Amino acid sequence: MQNEKLIPLSALQHYAFCPRQCALIHNEQVWAENWLTAQGQLLHQRVDRGEPETRKGIRYERGVLVSAESLGITGKLDLVEIDLASGVMKPVEYKRGKPKRDNWDRIQLCAQGLCLEEMQGRPVDSGALWYWQTRHRADVPFSLDLREETRQVVANVRKLLTDGETPKVIYEKKCDACSLFDLCNPKLLGKDRSARYVDDLFDEGEAE
Ligand code: SF4
Repeated sequence: MQNEKLIPLSALQHYAFCPRQCALIHNEQVWAENWLTAQGQLLHQRVDRGEPETRKGIRYERGVLVSAESLGITGKLDLVEIDLASGVMKPVEYKRGKPKRDNWDRIQLCAQGLCLEEMQGRPVDSGALWYWQTRHRADVPFSLDLREETRQVVANVRKLLTDGETPKVIYEKKCDACSLFDLCNPKLLGKDRSARYVDDLFDEGEAE
């Protein structure tokens, strides 16, 4: 993947929330803050600002830049814990909300683990998610299934960003919490049949 553009790890999170949001941000460079993204940014900045330290045999490194050339991904990790006796490394990702039923947070964390693994040339078997709202830490083993799912998601995001085609709007409940709501206009574009008709006319034109 040497000549391919590296995908930022943040794109996986945006894709998880909404593939259209991912394409708007990473292909069309559209960005807007709302209180949710601002809170998330503040949390990450606070974590990043912390100095490296060692406590009880564990080294804590913050704001660690990583990449995995084989997968074509890159990003900055909130925290890496290194057990000084064994050399075992563990990525720790801070989340603003609470644990979710779906796998998306685990996939993002596993992608971080794959980056560390490739850079350090040694196995990274697990990581941890720390949830601000519930003050809860969840350990996440990087199982073969999770690794496979993560690679698949990276491939899907790469396809989305390489194709350069922004998915059409579908209004869902999550849109109300989306920072791009005003720019995307899902209620109008997603429900208005005439708008969709015009959209389709343009699409047909583009195909010619
Ligand atoms: S408003 Fe809805 S459809 Fe538009 S980018 Fe956000 S989540 Fe996706």
